[in-house]
Amino acid sequence: FMNPEKILKQTFGYSSFRPGQKKVIDLILNRKNVLAVMPTGAGKSLCYQVPALMNEGVTLVISPLISLMKDQIDSLKQNGINAAALNSTTLQEEVNPILRQAYEGKIKLIYITPERLAMDYFRYQLNFLDVDLVAVDEAHCISQWGHDFRPAYRQIFEGINSLKSKPTILALTATATPAVQDDIGQQLNIPQENFIITSFARPNISFKVVNSPQNTHLYIAQYIKAHPDDAGIIYTNTRKKVESLTDYLAKKGISVGAYHGGMDAKERSQIQEAFQFDEFQVIVATNAFGMGIDKSNVRFVVHASSARNIESYYQEAGRAGRDGEESEAVMIYHPGDLHQYRYFIEESDADQKYKELQYQKLQAITDYVNTGECLQQFIVRYFGQDCPPCGKCSNCLNQGDLKDITTDAQKVIAL
Ligand code: ADP
Ligand code: MG
Repeated sequence: FMNPEKILKQTFGYSSFRPGQKKVIDLILNRKNVLAVMPTGAGKSLCYQVPALMNEGVTLVISPLISLMKDQIDSLKQNGINAAALNSTTLQEEVNPILRQAYEGKIKLIYITPERLAMDYFRYQLNFLDVDLVAVDEAHCISQWGHDFRPAYRQIFEGINSLKSKPTILALTATATPAVQDDIGQQLNIPQENFIITSFARPNISFKVVNSPQNTHLYIAQYIKAHPDDAGIIYTNTRKKVESLTDYLAKKGISVGAYHGGMDAKERSQIQEAFQFDEFQVIVATNAFGMGIDKSNVRFVVHASSARNIESYYQEAGRAGRDGEESEAVMIYHPGDLHQYRYFIEESDADQKYKELQYQKLQAITDYVNTGECLQQFIVRYFGQDCPPCGKCSNCLNQGDLKDITTDAQKVIAL
């Protein structure tokens, strides 16, 4: 007889569940819809992979990115589990054989994009399968209150509801404020009592805010040289800055790679893979780099320009220390970045309500770079939880120091 612990050990080779995993799995096995909110690296995938192997039928995993699907399927295959993806890169003649193998029980997990679930013909085909579970990964994409809204996510429930087999639903996300959690719950029919929210705190990350260094490039080069044996990610906000910073660091003798959305897909996956296998020390990237990377030994994440909102910041910074080892997340901030973001919002043709929301998010990140409180606590509270002061962020270490509260940045929103 199979139980979750046995599968965890025999199939995945892990000795115990991480916080929240067992609770989520038990609810799913009792056919309850669940929302799992767990930080990046907490092990959300296992929450549907284990039930997928225990269920008779098929599990559909809705995922926003093809690269994310590919990583997941590769690692499942390494554990001897057969899974497949259906997305825009799948050839038409590959679809039926995949569905047939699923029908025969040879494929237990199928990864799809939300757009595919919206297709009538695909829904028709799915009705030949016994779908037990639908896992909605990156579920915050369903909410306009979230930071990565994706219209096709709003049709997911209708798609699931159209299935004869009436599957259980598991929504997963790392970054959801209470408003986003409620929105997900309402749209996917998940009762509040089945929200499983593990602590948002990342106790192995030391957060640091660096206020307007005189020479940002030099600061970063010195930072990297002070961490010669550690892998790190440097985020910046434009492709041009990625290129200039990469050149600068390379000239300083640092082993560095660049990644941004302007590079072609092949180049990007080569760089990502090279970084994964420690072929260079540091990757300089825009926010195009991230979702789905599973490099566990990233020791530092430095933001060379401020993130646009706390959600993105925590997700990006959270790529440090996924292995649980001590790591650092540094945000270098210049008031000018925040002014520029405000300008972008002003100039965009979004409706007023959406703009207001973006202003609020920008205000929160402005508060973050100016707060004198514990930085970890600030972030955790933003997500509607609480935690004690971490004792090791730049604010905890400088406690008592007076902050310059007349900086331009503080006035950025109040203009
Ligand atoms: P998330 O989606 O929450 O960011 P992942 O599902 O990608 O996280 O898991 C992150 C890493 O943790 C993966 O390498 C995964 O194999 C590992 N992991 C998950 N659960 C456990 C566990 N119970 N014990 C040890 N490692 C685990
Ligand atoms: Mg994940």
